[in-house]
Formats: sequence, C-alpha cells, structure tokens
Amino acid sequence: MMRGFEKLFEPIQVGNILFKNRIVMAPMATNFATQDGFVTDQLIDYYVERAKNHVGLIIVESTCIDSPVGKNIANELCADRDEYISGLRRLTSAIHEAGAKVALQLHHAGSLAKSSITGMQPVSCSPVTSQVTGEIPKVLNIEEIDGIIEAFGEGVMRAKEAGMDGVDLHYSHGYLITQFLSSLTNIRTDHYGGSLENRARFPLEILRRCRQKVGRDYLIMCKLTIDQFIPGGLTLSETGPVAKMLEGEGLDVIHATAGDPNSLESLPVPPMFSPRGCYVPFAEGLKRYVEIPVGAVGRINEPEIAVKILEEGKADLINIGRSFLADAEFLTKVREGRIKDIRPCIGCNQGCRGRDRTKYFTIHCSVNPEIGKEKTFQIRPAFQPKKVLIVGGGPAGMEAAKIAALRGHNVTLCEKRGELGGQLIFAARPPGREEIGNLTRYLSNQIMKLEVKILLRKEVDFGFLQKFNPEAIILATGSTPIGFLENEKLESQLYFGHQVLSGEIEIGRKVVVIGGGSVGSGIADFLAERGHEVILILRRSDIGSKLEPSTKMVIKKRLQKNGVRIIQKAHFRGFIEGQVRMDREGIEEYIDADNVVLAIGAKPENSLYQEIKGRWGNVYAIGDCVEPRGILEAISEGATVARII
Ligand code: SF4
Repeated sequence: MMRGFEKLFEPIQVGNILFKNRIVMAPMATNFATQDGFVTDQLIDYYVERAKNHVGLIIVESTCIDSPVGKNIANELCADRDEYISGLRRLTSAIHEAGAKVALQLHHAGSLAKSSITGMQPVSCSPVTSQVTGEIPKVLNIEEIDGIIEAFGEGVMRAKEAGMDGVDLHYSHGYLITQFLSSLTNIRTDHYGGSLENRARFPLEILRRCRQKVGRDYLIMCKLTIDQFIPGGLTLSETGPVAKMLEGEGLDVIHATAGDPNSLESLPVPPMFSPRGCYVPFAEGLKRYVEIPVGAVGRINEPEIAVKILEEGKADLINIGRSFLADAEFLTKVREGRIKDIRPCIGCNQGCRGRDRTKYFTIHCSVNPEIGKEKTFQIRPAFQPKKVLIVGGGPAGMEAAKIAALRGHNVTLCEKRGELGGQLIFAARPPGREEIGNLTRYLSNQIMKLEVKILLRKEVDFGFLQKFNPEAIILATGSTPIGFLENEKLESQLYFGHQVLSGEIEIGRKVVVIGGGSVGSGIADFLAERGHEVILILRRSDIGSKLEPSTKMVIKKRLQKNGVRIIQKAHFRGFIEGQVRMDREGIEEYIDADNVVLAIGAKPENSLYQEIKGRWGNVYAIGDCVEPRGILEAISEGATVARII
C-alpha cells in the first residue's frame, strides 16, 4: 500500500455492511442495457472491470422503477418487473466475484423524461414545464403517487432478491423526487405540496415503504441534491432538515450532490472549469444535520483530494465517477503508488455527458477508448514485432505509440514541434482548460516509460522514410487551420488561434475573434482575461454547437463576465486597414480592430499521406489528418490502429 493513501482504504461499517474501503463508484448511465432494460454482457464486463480494481462499493447506474414513463435514457436498466431479477442477479454475482459490494440506484425521471424516448407524456407533481425538455408533465394524482411509492418498494425487493447489497434512491439531479422537494416545481396545494414537511412527504413515504418491504437491516442510501443552484430552489436550509427526516426514517447513507439540469449556475456533472471537489462543501454542510455516513461527490479526480476530504472529516465516503471511466485501474494504481500512470479524467464531459445519443449512443470517454469493450479491446502481444514509425505527437500519435509499444513493436515517434501534445498544447491554454495538459503529461510519460524513441523537431518526408525503412507507418499529422479565403496569404494583423494561444505574436488592445466553436470561444476568453477588448463574431445564433451543455454554460458565463461582445449570425468578409467587414442579415457592417483572430475550423494535414499512399505498404492515417475532430476520435483511432498492426 502506497503511504499517504491509507485513509482511502480504511474499512467503514455502513448500516449492517462492512465496506472494505471508502471509495464508491458513483452511478453513471451507460445505455449498455437492452432497449427493454435488461442487463447485457457488455454492462457486466464494464462493471466487473471496475470491481476487480478495489472499488469498495459500486452503485449501479439509474434503474427505472416505472418504465417507460419514468425512463431518462433509451436503454435504461429497469427493475419494475420480476423478469429483470435474473439479469440483475447475474450482474450482482459478477461484481461480488470481482470483490466489490454492489447497490442498485432506483430512479424515476418525472418531468425530465422525454416523450420522444418513452412515447408518453412525462409525469410530475405539478404542471411545470421542464426547461430541459420543454414538455409539460401530467400531474400525478394521489393514487398514481402511491403507485410510484409502491414501485420503489418493489424495486428494493427485486434488488434484494437479486443479491444486491443495497439500493440508492435517486433523490437528486432534478428528477421526480427533486421535483416534489423543490418549491420551484412543486406547486401542489394538497398534502404533497406547500410546506417543507409536505414536499418531503413523497420521499419519506418511499423510504418508509422500502423499509416495510425489506426490513431495517437492508442497506438503503439516497443521493440527495443539497443545493439546486437556482434562485428560490433547494438549498441546505431545506435539504438539511429533509436529510434529518430521512435519517429518522431509517436511511443508512446520504450521498450529497448539487446542481440541477434547470440551473444556469451549475449542472449536476461539473465540467473542467469547476474546482475539484466543488460539491464537497455540501457534504460537509450536511454532516451538521445527520449522524449517518455522508458521501462526497463532484470532480474528485485525484487521490490526494479524496484523502484530504476524509482527513478533514468533510465526508465519510468518496464518490468517484468519471475517473473510473477514464481509468478502470484508478484505485489499483493508487494502491501501488503509480499515480503518474493514472489516465486522467480531464472533465471534458464530451464522451460521457455530451454524447449525442445518436452518434455516441452508449457512454464513451474521450481519454479511454476501452469503455464498453472491456473484453474485446484488449492489448495482445504483436504476432510479429515490427519497426513502426509514427508521424505526429498529438493525442492520436501518442496513443498509437503507447499501444504499439505495449504490444512489443519497436516504435519511433517523430514530431515536428519541439514538444509533444499537438493540438492539446493549445487546447489547454484558455482559462479553466488547464487539465487538458494532464492528458499530454500522461501520454508522454507512458511512451517515455515504454522507451518509444521520440524525435522532436523532426519533419518526415519521403527521403526520410526511404532511409528509415519502417515496416508500418502511422500518420497522425493533424490539421491546419482554415484561412479566410482559399490560398490566401494571411495579411498582417490577422492571425490564427494557435499563434495567439502560443504567445508567439503581440496582439493589440481591440481584437475580433471569428468563430464561436470551442476554439474561438476559448481564444476570446483567453484574450479577455488578459485585458483585451474582445468581439466574438458567430455565424450561428449561439456559441459552441458541439459543446456539451455544462461546458457551454460555463463558457458563456465567462465570456459575459469578461465583457466579450458577441455578434451573432454575422459573416466575416475581410479585414482591411484596421476595419473588419462583415455582413449581418444582408447588411454590411464595419468594426474597428487592431487584430483579427481566425478560428473558423481546420482541414486535414495529409500531404505526406497523399504522397506515400500506394507507394508504401502498411500505411495508416488517424486522427485529425483524416478529418479534424476531437480528443475522443483521435485517441480512439490511435488505439484501434495500434492494435491491428
Ligand atoms: Fe472525464 Fe471527459 Fe472521459 Fe468524461 S469523457 S470521463 S469528462 S475524460
């Protein structure tokens, strides 16, 4: 056991169960179940991979107790019929065999359910339109409320029947129970609305019914939103007393979360811009109200942070979610003191939260291409080790180098810049995005450890290839930014984003940034924070069409706070003699500026690929040199190609 981290691995008695350590894998929806809500092998493999790496308790993702109307995602697990028990039992046995305790999170989405998924009008306590879905829920009557209370009770019975060690009632994140608790969404005038006691009646009755079904000894936890971050919404002054009431009804543990999908301040899954451990103060605050163990939640992505929380008595349990997506071996590496080997969650939310559920239907992770392929995407020794040349030291090239070296190939990586990282170098520069640099450090550490030969400032051309004579070539040559006009030579005072972010140029006081994607908004933020007067010109009506909601929300707030002026639906037409020319809805307009920064996209840098394609065997192109995209695609393609060479 690595010294300094012992506190994480101290056992704790919770209700009637002894947890072997303080680490809980937080529930995260995967979409790995079948469309009907049954357990799949993919789901089992995903959890087993985490269970065998020392997690104390795994809380299996939100599981619907009232399908389809209460479902939040298309392939949500279900526990509302007995036919689900055998699959859940299989999941439980597999997790137990791998060494972890397991609980099932029981869930009803209420007004956050989408009729496009469920085929039904959502339900809730009151007819308050959901800001997220835009749908008006049907109001539950007393009989229907009792039906849901009973459904939670039966869900607990099924979890117990399936051998689960306990359940976690989903009283958070804006779903049905939060809707009842919050006076923003509960405007009932009967005994389920009005006073706090009335609004708390529904969650208390659910807990009471659950206890009636399974007795006092069975582990029942809940995840409770302590603060909604919405004016007039739930805060500790209400949720503290609610927690006390729940404790009085026999609750064993509370996991203290915060944020709300309807909030303009903080969403339930905070992005990289939020401080690490950002919701820990709510766990600490809750401990003043209850004596049962409290779990801390929210960007606890480094073991040192987790230890500090426990040592300072701010919580009794540590919920880790996304870091277990990024690296299933997180805790094994902590125990062994291999901290630098932990593949870091960078808080990008792109793969795990921002997935467009049609493009990335199941959960993904930008930095971990193995998610959901735990059994099929293993690293196997190369049948015949080869001399492999990788061109480009960005995320795609470095991931490919890592996997190829792990397979036993003799790998050389050439990078034309003086440092590794590619686009990650610039992506990490705008405020709040520094954690992207952790990924560069992780990947470069790995390939150095694996003794990949790294040649920096090395341009690769056909002549070099002839001399080097590799048996396989992986081209990860990245992309180049798109200029204003095809083949234009950028006039002075008009720059590309990477030139600004690298600090290689002096920039004037008044700057116009063209392009409102992740890059353009980051540059605007970067410049505004340095005191420049910034105008951001967008073709669309909003920034960041590809940004996931919590990231977008934070960036918009930052731009506003830093005084960035945003001009929407405008087309940049040129920059001549200190004047930006644009047209907005057919009207030509001019703005004075010292500089213009272009962030209007990128094109593949594939000239070497075009040159050698067909002239050399075993040539593969990956990442942005195929098509400029994100970290997820770059790493995934690097990992895939390196497994097949
Ligand atoms: Fe973390 Fe991003 Fe992976 Fe989500 S997708 S787990 S935020 S690195």
